Amino acid sequence: MNKYAIVGFGCAGYHAAEKIRSRDQEAVIDVYSDTDIGPYNPMLTTYFVKGSLPYEGMFPFGSLEECEKKLNLHIKKECPVTAVDGENRMICCADGTKEQYDRILLSTGASALKPPIPGLSLPGVFTMRTAEDAVRLKERIASGKLKTALVIGASWVGIKVVEDFVEAKVATTLVDGAPWMFYVAAFEETARRAKEDLEKKGVRVSLCQMLDHIEANADGTLTAFMKSGDTFTADTIGVCIGVRTNTGFLKDSGIAMNRGILVNSRMQTNLPGIYAAGDCVEAKDIQSGQPKNIGVWYNAGRQGEVAGENMAGGFMEFDANILVNLAHYLDYDFICVGDVSACGPEDEYYEYEDEKLYIKACKNGQKIKCINMIGSADANGVVKNIFIKTIETPEAEIDVKSVCYLLTNGFPEAFISFLRRK
Ligand SMILES: Cc1cc2nc3c(=O)[nH]c(=O)nc-3n(C[C@H](O)[C@H](O)[C@H](O)COP(=O)(O)OP(=O)(O)OC[C@H]3O[C@@H](n4cnc5c(N)ncnc54)[C@H](O)[C@@H]3O)c2cc1C
Repeated sequence: MNKYAIVGFGCAGYHAAEKIRSRDQEAVIDVYSDTDIGPYNPMLTTYFVKGSLPYEGMFPFGSLEECEKKLNLHIKKECPVTAVDGENRMICCADGTKEQYDRILLSTGASALKPPIPGLSLPGVFTMRTAEDAVRLKERIASGKLKTALVIGASWVGIKVVEDFVEAKVATTLVDGAPWMFYVAAFEETARRAKEDLEKKGVRVSLCQMLDHIEANADGTLTAFMKSGDTFTADTIGVCIGVRTNTGFLKDSGIAMNRGILVNSRMQTNLPGIYAAGDCVEAKDIQSGQPKNIGVWYNAGRQGEVAGENMAGGFMEFDANILVNLAHYLDYDFICVGDVSACGPEDEYYEYEDEKLYIKACKNGQKIKCINMIGSADANGVVKNIFIKTIETPEAEIDVKSVCYLLTNGFPEAFISFLRRK
């Protein structure tokens, strides 16, 4: 009888468990979770905060007990893994227990980044990642005591937190250390449009603002002191400045790591029998050919499936790690496919703007490098698929169905010509 361990029970861990169980009815599957709640979807936390989802809506696979029963798992609740002996496939838990396995999956995800900046642990300063973070923020908003909020970090998580405050009629300021919003994904011009849109909704946006420290004031407010000398005072401060992979416990494991755990296309690490999937890994990015940590829900689920299938003796590869970011906020949606940092002055650009739609795209020869769009929600999937195909089969033309879809949805012909290879 095979004995499997899954460390971390989020999207990746759940999908792996499902795959293993579907191939191996007899297996013992131990799941180590550092919480006592079921696998939740972190991207739904802000929807719960603004009231568009009930608490249970954050748990797409059901409660921990339901998962345990459905997949016949042994779930070790509130049992964070503190170390892994990679060579012997041994797991060491916070409660002192040690257990050896035939196969191990590492799917510990990522946590909100909290650098050692003075004041980040003050009451009223928060991050947004977990279901508990969401419950706390929802309660604070519901108390009616929040009149002003400062959000630090104009990126995917920060913008969703801004949306929560705007919907709750809390006066909100968004600051970022970078010269423009969505800095790692947006062209400067796209970010200008995103900033204007946000300001129209009453959000104050201030850029090039690096946080120095936060202090609590006698009246219960908080003041963020910036390196520029500027200060921002608010009732609460959200710190949304990125994530770090949950891999610290692997430091003496012998498992090869960079920013995340390094894996091949079958989600195998450098050590036999040890696999990894989800936000904690760096898988091959098909655009650059290099390992990259691309923490999105689809990747986590698919990588979990691939790992589970391979762990249970099958053969499956993960083949679609591309940079794609999508944010839907305050009636806007911004999508970025591809790597904006790969674009330079030698490249060819296309730009289009009207009241509803903004597009900026970059290519070099036949190779599309990055596409930014605001206001294109329905066509995002089509454009993403076109982008993936241009990388996978550079000689192929865009399929007629996609062209028709874009034309009938109001996309300019010049954009389609720009995307065409010939
Ligand atoms: C606010 C927000 C918005 C987002 N928006 C989007 C979006 O629009 N689109 C998109 O695709 N993605 C989005 N994401 C990212 C997406 O949620 C993640 O990519 C996905 O949830 C990753 O799943 P995972 O299973 O790898 O990790 P996680 O969901 O982080 O699960 C890992 C689990 O492992 C546990 N764990 C950690 N360490 C240990 C340990 N040592 N022992 C035991 N257990 C451990 C953790 O507590 C956690 O429960 C968003 C995320 C956030 C926070």
